[in-house]
Amino acid sequence: MSIFEPSSPVAAPASPHGQPEQRRILVTELPGPRSMALQQRRDRALPPGLGTTLPVFVERAGGGIIVDVDGNHLIDFASGIAVTSVGASAPAVVGRVQEQAATFTHTCFLVTEYEGYVDVADWLNEHTPGEHAKTTALFSTGAEAIENAVKIARASTGRPGVVVFDHAYHGRSLLTMAMTAKEKPYKAGFGPLATDVHRAPFPYPLRWPTGVEHATEEALAALEELLERVGAENIAAIVVEPVQGEGGFVVPTTGFLPGVQEIARGHGIVFVADEVQSGMARTGSLFASEHEGLVPDLIVTAKALAGGLPLSAVTGRAEVMAGAAPGGLGGTYAGNPLACAAALGVFEMVQTHDLVSRAQRIERVVRERLEPVVAESLAVAELRGRGAMMAVELVRPGTLDPDPEAAAAVSAACHRQGVLTLVCGTFGNVIRMLPPLVIDEDLLVEGLDVLAAALRELV
Ligand SMILES: *Cc1c(COP(=O)(O)O)cnc(C)c1O
Repeated sequence: MSIFEPSSPVAAPASPHGQPEQRRILVTELPGPRSMALQQRRDRALPPGLGTTLPVFVERAGGGIIVDVDGNHLIDFASGIAVTSVGASAPAVVGRVQEQAATFTHTCFLVTEYEGYVDVADWLNEHTPGEHAKTTALFSTGAEAIENAVKIARASTGRPGVVVFDHAYHGRSLLTMAMTAKEKPYKAGFGPLATDVHRAPFPYPLRWPTGVEHATEEALAALEELLERVGAENIAAIVVEPVQGEGGFVVPTTGFLPGVQEIARGHGIVFVADEVQSGMARTGSLFASEHEGLVPDLIVTAKALAGGLPLSAVTGRAEVMAGAAPGGLGGTYAGNPLACAAALGVFEMVQTHDLVSRAQRIERVVRERLEPVVAESLAVAELRGRGAMMAVELVRPGTLDPDPEAAAAVSAACHRQGVLTLVCGTFGNVIRMLPPLVIDEDLLVEGLDVLAAALRELV
């Protein structure tokens, strides 16, 4: 039975507080007194290695609003880093999780099985790009799924090497931090790093040294040259984000991704799309790979996959996936039943709320509100991105020199006014917008106007 049949959705009990009022309300300065008291406890109890974007403690959240313990209602431009695309308390997710929790919380899928896991696998096999036979293995975090994609690629090719790109982010675990580009804070002090990871240039349109018109061709030539140097026959996988996330919401120049796919094919290298951040409707297509018609051998999803519950997946060509021997994949919690139930709620909402169109609509609204600011401000080099994965890159006026202080100042101004923005980018100078796809349009516009005003303050 299709999970979308009307009989199947679980009746959703209202969350204890109901959906928060979808309005920005500031009753204290941020952070308020209760958050500050909790922050003092946090600072005593937690190590400093755990960062914080905005030290407010959350009481509830849903739609486009986060309510803190002081009663402030913030406009959410973060979605918990591209996770709660359906909102943080969507009835389709909450109802399914509640029902699953009351039935059983865990068996370990490797011990005894449950249907929800297979439902999630079927959906991903059907909806990821390509008509070929696919299988899916579930895990818990993005980094864990990336590591498993590399394990699968190595097992199926018998080769050790991995190629990744400048500005890439693939996680914080021992292998994935080696795959991640940025040294501080992700790798500094945490070595020695995993070996057999090779890095190629990424065609960052704004910053390609010889000009954007040469970027695709030169970046592909550099990849070929790297493969020549290290021996393509030693490379198991090329792993790429179709739209880079932490690296700065960089959309590579047209033709680059299809070129990488072709090069990988030509050398028998497994082509892996890291869609942990860009997947699940975020960029205005179900997967960002679709914008240029890619058919990755393996596609990795996580973040928005299960609406806030920890779930990740590697989906790919059945014959590549079969490279890992029986017993070689898995994990105690991998594909936890609560997380699978949540994912089924997300899949339902992708369809019932037409989240792909919503992401496209968000892009139009963002462009409409911010393009005038970009045009008039010398401090904003560029507005870029796809769908509901948009960002502005800040520079010292009249140059291309990154201006991380400006990004911090703009973000802080937004935070003071109750709009939760995030900074990203190799140089820390990019403000990214990741609203829940279900955000009300008037909230979106209000948040963008706060951001636009803060940007106008820069020069
Ligand atoms: C967040 C992210 C990861 C790592 O996911 P975790 O769940 O934090 O381990 C990997 N790749 C990309 C593109 C990401 O955005």
